[in-house]
Amino acid sequence: MHDLSPAAWQPLLTTRTLGRGAVICEHTLASTNTVLKDFARKGTFREAICLCEQQTTGRGRLDRSWSSPEGQGVWMSVLLQPGLPPERLPLLTLCAAVAMTQALRALPGCGARIKWPNDVILCGRKVCGVLLEAGFAPDGRQFVVIGTGLNVRREAYPPELADRAIALEEVCPPPERSALIAAYLNHLEEAIRACESGYIPGFLKTYRNFSCTLGSAVQVIAPAETYAGTALDVDDSGALLVRAEDGSVRRVLAGDVSVRGMMGYV
Ligand code: ADP
Repeated sequence: MHDLSPAAWQPLLTTRTLGRGAVICEHTLASTNTVLKDFARKGTFREAICLCEQQTTGRGRLDRSWSSPEGQGVWMSVLLQPGLPPERLPLLTLCAAVAMTQALRALPGCGARIKWPNDVILCGRKVCGVLLEAGFAPDGRQFVVIGTGLNVRREAYPPELADRAIALEEVCPPPERSALIAAYLNHLEEAIRACESGYIPGFLKTYRNFSCTLGSAVQVIAPAETYAGTALDVDDSGALLVRAEDGSVRRVLAGDVSVRGMMGYV
């Protein structure tokens, strides 16, 4: 557990505030996102980090489950008060994906990419998922919780997901989790500050460079319909612009859709 403890990763931080306040670090939790949402709703913390060795009910988007067994990954959430208008909050999901991608790309041979909106991909398979949840604190201020599940060891995901999941150690010798946590938080603060202070075009340029979705043929699976098209761009709220086969350009929001490549998951 020592490499998850704040004593191991706080000295590696270069952030101004992120990661320097409250930290909840436990062996077993139901879900790190749920823990931070509960604290935020009660007004206990405005900013906090939550980490654990294993989650018993880790969650992905759309209530899908996220496999997070003991000691196999970095199961972590960040609580913060966003300085962005509500319609721009989805950008924070992209910030988390960019920050994790930058943390991984610093490792030898680790060419991480992003599948819109927020899956970090290695060798065509998902190494990290992001779950953004928002709510209101008792004082009426909005909060967000950004959860990330990073597969470090091979047993992070069950064998039945082997065609779409991967762990860091399958690509390179993984560093201590403390180094990954600090690198992620350092990049995350930088990305969020860029977006909050009006540098969204610059941030989106970085996102586009890492994207493996843009320019590709995709299938958009929405509650009411499934359609095929070409992923053209992301806009300054983080929505995906897709040219459908009838020529119309549709704006796809991350909340309730899945996007798949035409040849498989990516
Ligand atoms: P999607 O990638 O299908 O849009 P989510 O972002 O909601 O979905 O992530 C949940 C999905 O990720 C699950 O349905 C499962 O297929 C997959 N999954 C669950 N645990 C892991 C894991 N540890 N690593 C990679 N993929 C996982």
